Amino acid sequence: MNALTEAPLIDLASLEREIRARDRQLDNPFSKDSQITALRGARNYLGDKLIRTAKPHRLLDPAAGPLIAVRLHIITRKTLGGLETDLSGRVLNEDGNPVRGLYAAGEVAGFGGGGMHGYRALEGTFLGGCLFSGRVAGRAAAHAVI
Ligand SMILES: Cc1cc2nc3c(=O)[nH]c(=O)nc-3n(C[C@H](O)[C@H](O)[C@H](O)COP(=O)(O)OP(=O)(O)OC[C@H]3O[C@@H](n4cnc5c(N)ncnc54)[C@H](O)[C@@H]3O)c2cc1C
Repeated sequence: MNALTEAPLIDLASLEREIRARDRQLDNPFSKDSQITALRGARNYLGDKLIRTAKPHRLLDPAAGPLIAVRLHIITRKTLGGLETDLSGRVLNEDGNPVRGLYAAGEVAGFGGGGMHGYRALEGTFLGGCLFSGRVAGRAAAHAVI
């Protein structure tokens, strides 16, 4: 990875220390490593154990190698909203009054996650709210010009 950048951003000794420390936590049933704890929690549910999580193993286990470095490109996957609307999809200004002629629906209006399902919206529940709020906003906009 250092060869891909102009500056050597990764210190090999630090990286190795982190990996060995993480691997030690696999032997610790009371591990405070949040990823290992989350992995064990997920595997307590049969569905996640079978199809969503790999069997925990040491990163430096020769049988699991070779190690592969992956360059990540961070993107925003979900916004949970941004524009405040009323239940007709009319966008509200900072005073809470509708902005004339402006409607919003879907994720930008918080009807994917955020608004409709709360901040703990589950995966797979976004499209329904987006479509429903689009229908509501579309009807309200049509009604306004009739
Ligand atoms: C990888 C991934 C997987 C997902 N899987 C699921 C799933 O399984 N089930 C589920 O329910 N939800 C899922 N979602 C969430 C769901 O897809 C989105 O919440 C939903 O598609 C949002 O719809 P939207 O119409 O609000 O916004 P978008 O679909 O983002 O539409 C916004 C549109 O506006 C356009 N746009 C932006 N700026 C401008 C501009 N200035 N001028 C003109 N056009 C512009 C964009 O190009 C885009 O086409 C997933 C999302 C992602 C990213």
